Amino acid sequence: MILGRKVRLFPSEEQEKALWRSAGTARFVYNWTLARQEENYNNGNKFMSDNELRKEITLMKKEDEYRWLSEVSNNVAKQAVKDACDAYKRYFKKVSEKPKFKSRKRSKPSFYNDNMKIKFKESSVLLEKVGWVSIKINQIPLGKKYRNPRVSYDGKYVVYGVEMEKPELELTGESLGIDVGIKDLAVCSNGKVYKNINKSKEMRKKEKKLRRLQRQVSRKYEMNKIGGKFVKTSNIVKLEKQIKLLHREISNIRSNYLHQTTSEIVKTKPSRVVMETLNIRGMMSNRHLAKAIGKQGLYEFRRQMKYKCEFNGIEFVEVDTWYPSSKTCSECGHVKTRLSLSERTYICEECDCVIDRDYNASINLSRYRLAA
Ligand SMILES: [Zn+2]
Repeated sequence: MILGRKVRLFPSEEQEKALWRSAGTARFVYNWTLARQEENYNNGNKFMSDNELRKEITLMKKEDEYRWLSEVSNNVAKQAVKDACDAYKRYFKKVSEKPKFKSRKRSKPSFYNDNMKIKFKESSVLLEKVGWVSIKINQIPLGKKYRNPRVSYDGKYVVYGVEMEKPELELTGESLGIDVGIKDLAVCSNGKVYKNINKSKEMRKKEKKLRRLQRQVSRKYEMNKIGGKFVKTSNIVKLEKQIKLLHREISNIRSNYLHQTTSEIVKTKPSRVVMETLNIRGMMSNRHLAKAIGKQGLYEFRRQMKYKCEFNGIEFVEVDTWYPSSKTCSECGHVKTRLSLSERTYICEECDCVIDRDYNASINLSRYRLAA
């Protein structure tokens, strides 16, 4: 099984320059390859192979003008040619759109590192022509086969695939129901509640700050309009950079929280996890709800639960929305005909039991039987 991983880099100033150099070379070679393929095609010739193009690059390196291409690892150019050729091939086979040139501004700077040459230690990684770069400690499973390592340089990360053996978990036999939602992220039938992180004080503060910055920027744009055209002042550039960073920070917090939560659930080693199918169309028809779901990351939560269960040999069951997980009383089995969304507490008219709505639903989910 191959898992995608990423780890934060902490390069020195010198290494940072080398990283940018590699990313810049990758972009240059990628664009150059696209342009060559296009020129060649317009001249009525057949698709050019990776090999032909790489030979041209080798010749180019001997010219003074392109000598800088040799300053980075050969593999950077090699992979960039391959990526561009693959993208062009996909376009020819009509499986994807015509590949675009990577712009300095919009494209994510990244480059490839040979997977045989990349080496990890507890607190550093060896990158070609860059050297040992510090990384966040104890993030890397050591002594594994690493696949397709790429250094993405927007947030200073190295992204790679790693071959992992399936762990042998001893499961408890428990069937765990999980009710996901907007109020709380997940309520589990074992009583654990994972709150909505967006409601935390810290996140509210950050989102408020984000809105304030966004207002500031649009105001500045209006103020600096010249002849109906928007002008980007250095102040605007500064504000936009702040916004971008804050966006990233917020999305990182959300993403970390999801990973933490799904990992923690899996660590309780249930034999089975039962969730309700997310009703995409129904939920997304409500704009307000759609936004909240997006922030909560419910689809990502489901995706992570599913793969983490599969990885650990836990059965993952998705229950159709017709299953009355919310309307059924988990005490006596009575099924309500009506239950509005605003009723946060389940009050049974049969047995008088009073229970939190989501907790009740999670218990019912945990008891779900196929063809019951
Ligand atoms: Zn009841």
